[in-house]
Amino acid sequence: MNKTDIQPVAIGVDLGGTNLRIGIVDQRGNILKSLKRQSQAKEGKENVINRITDLLIEACNISNELQREVKGICVGAPGFLNIKKGIISASPNLPDWKDVALKKEIEKRKNFPPILLQNDANCFTFGEWWIGAGNGYKNLAGITLGTGVGGGVILDNRIWLGDDGTAGEIGHIIVEPSGLKCECGRNGCLESYASGTAIVKQATLALKKGEMSTLKNRVKENLNAVTAKMVSEEATKGDRLSLDIMKEAGRYLGIAIASIINLLNIGRFVIGGRVAGSGDIILEPAREEVLKRAINPHIKDQVIVQASLGDDAGIIGAAGMVFQNG
Ligand SMILES: [Zn+2]
Repeated sequence: MNKTDIQPVAIGVDLGGTNLRIGIVDQRGNILKSLKRQSQAKEGKENVINRITDLLIEACNISNELQREVKGICVGAPGFLNIKKGIISASPNLPDWKDVALKKEIEKRKNFPPILLQNDANCFTFGEWWIGAGNGYKNLAGITLGTGVGGGVILDNRIWLGDDGTAGEIGHIIVEPSGLKCECGRNGCLESYASGTAIVKQATLALKKGEMSTLKNRVKENLNAVTAKMVSEEATKGDRLSLDIMKEAGRYLGIAIASIINLLNIGRFVIGGRVAGSGDIILEPAREEVLKRAINPHIKDQVIVQASLGDDAGIIGAAGMVFQNG
């Protein structure tokens, strides 16, 4: 086979505190093969970096067997990163990682095709923009509602990085100036109202105060066993307390989105992460808030939609950025 006949692939990596996922992705965003391991973050960073390297070697071998040329690798990682230098400065999901030069560390272990480092929420956003719920929009924002709230912004079809590569921290937009304390140490960030952690906190607090809810049937006496998934499920079944908590989270999400719309005139917001699995229960109050607060009279109701790629968005988006930067 001539080299010109070889269809290139990119390797996308989704590094989380729990799971490490790798995908071999073609130029249309199809995952040809995916690999998944536990990241074992608790065993320390050396162990995690070795596991990433081993999995990348495996992925490169598979690409060879598929007779595909690996154009590049992109690692999507959580936390605060120096994208230009390939450094993870700090990450709540990777506790002992402080100024880790991940790109260099992987390159030291093995000679790979070019490696990029990207914020995991940017990878999610890029994936949904490329072949997911945001396809066809040149300006878009992605928001993940999970343990924390992550975000990414695409302007004119490219991820907006800002001066230092830290743009898109939608989770730390202030929605209540003297509001609840956020994990980042500041007050009133969106994350303290719309993350899974925030939803669980609200529910537990209300149950401890003795409020009536079907959540009690789920956890019996152990009020600390409430999960965001339970609140979302009970809300779907019509439980008043759970519905109120999800509505409140959605309302704050809408306040943050309205501000972004007023600043950037973005036409599509794709919401992912496990809290977004509750769909319209959280998205509808957000849409109502946006219609009230956005200045643009052309805002459509479907400006906020649920993500469509599930857990694959991260690896697809990481790989997509290899092609776009190629
Ligand atoms: Zn914050």
